[in-house]
Amino acid sequence: MGRQIYDVIVTGAGPSGMMAAISASSEGANVLLLEKNPSPGKKLLLTGHGRCNITNIRIMDNFRETYHENARFLTSALHAFSPEDVRAFFASIGIPTHEEDAGRIFPDSQKASDVCRALEDAVRKNGIELLMESPVTSVSPAKDPSGDLWCVKTNDSEYTGRSVVIASGGKSFPHTGSTGDGYRIAEDLDHEITPIRPALAPLFLASFSDPMTDRCEDCGAEFTLAGVTLPDVGTALSVDGKTVARSRGDLLFTHQGVSGPSAMSLSRYLPTDTGKYPEGKVRLIVDLLPDISEEEVGKNLLSAMTDNPNRHMKRLLCETFHFQEKIALLLLGETMDLSANQVTKKMRNQITEKIKRCSFDIEKCTPLDMAYVTAGGVSVRQIDPKTMGSKVKEGLFFCGEVIDIDGVSGGYNLQNAWSTGRAAGLAAASFSRREERRE
Ligand SMILES: Cc1cc2nc3c(=O)[nH]c(=O)nc-3n(C[C@H](O)[C@H](O)[C@H](O)COP(=O)(O)OP(=O)(O)OC[C@H]3O[C@@H](n4cnc5c(N)ncnc54)[C@H](O)[C@@H]3O)c2cc1C
Repeated sequence: MGRQIYDVIVTGAGPSGMMAAISASSEGANVLLLEKNPSPGKKLLLTGHGRCNITNIRIMDNFRETYHENARFLTSALHAFSPEDVRAFFASIGIPTHEEDAGRIFPDSQKASDVCRALEDAVRKNGIELLMESPVTSVSPAKDPSGDLWCVKTNDSEYTGRSVVIASGGKSFPHTGSTGDGYRIAEDLDHEITPIRPALAPLFLASFSDPMTDRCEDCGAEFTLAGVTLPDVGTALSVDGKTVARSRGDLLFTHQGVSGPSAMSLSRYLPTDTGKYPEGKVRLIVDLLPDISEEEVGKNLLSAMTDNPNRHMKRLLCETFHFQEKIALLLLGETMDLSANQVTKKMRNQITEKIKRCSFDIEKCTPLDMAYVTAGGVSVRQIDPKTMGSKVKEGLFFCGEVIDIDGVSGGYNLQNAWSTGRAAGLAAASFSRREERRE
């Protein structure tokens, strides 16, 4: 029996790899999908806290900010397979979706496991050969009398294909299988890898016990900000006194620092120095009232204090600005135990400034393992944005997070996986047909 030649071999059965495989087989290609884990889509199962924020229909609103410096690269793939197309695709495989706040799209069942199962079913229904526990160790061009082929090796087997799609994901949350194998494979095939760093990661704050832990005025006990959520605040990241990124959204204090979209979006701009940052070098600045100017905040505070001279400052701040008690305590510092008529103009100005620019020292760069997404990857300069085909090696394609593309929180990273997976799968199938005719 002759050796089997696959039209398309896809490495990695995450969202982008499954989409690439389904797309290629819908064009009649015979497809092999290799996954290192015992089951596909392990990271997909974790998405949206298990609910899977599949995409975002407001993708074009802030396109440049959403996908950062390489946004333009995605334009073509996103137009060809838009969030609406993604919704139609999922409806066609039994996953109807609905819109939630800020354009975020979720499956009606609210279960990432349903999304994963439907994709796996579609893979099988399309006749795609899905092999689990098959970690790809190398991909190399194989000169063959029957044409230019690719040799894909796993730890115990070898497969031949007319084209290969690398869909092995990034290097964060490595227990899900995304251990950066694709970067090494691409590098071995002469591709440039832009520096890998955490994106969408929580921030570690320095001196966590001060000011994060404070004293309760009534009982004298220490309290912690862990668990406190600030809805819709403005955030900025300052490095050496210069603002390098801004964001807006919810912020959540944790036991180590801060999490939530408005903190996590800043993480890709953290200096990647190893060890602790020098004191004051990297700071998180929070604007607690981003829709109100500093002048207005000052005026509101003054008038509240004038109207209620005997009111305790903590109560006054909570009533005037609807702050939670712990936040009022954080803002007040030494004025914590004073009533309004005991607060000097200087102290009042300091409180106003803190409301608009409450700043915290960031301790160190978050480890890549903890990031939801990996920034950096296979350079977009070496990839055709229409086909996701390598400009360096014919017949090699990339999709998903292995490419140097990352988006903010809100369904944008999965949309990247669907759009680039679709483009790579279709183009790999068409490339293989061309190669087949040549043989
Ligand atoms: C906790 C969490 C929540 C998230 N929530 C959301 C969300 O709600 N919405 C959103 O848009 N994004 C979300 N993301 C990001 C999103 O999950 C990723 O961007 C997306 O999964 C990337 O898809 P991918 O196919 O490129 O890579 P991955 O999902 O990482 O899949 C890569 C696959 O390749 C396999 N693989 C790796 N190396 C090899 C190898 N050598 N051989 C064979 N197989 C290999 C891996 O095992 C894995 O199955 C979240 C991420 C995390 C960690």
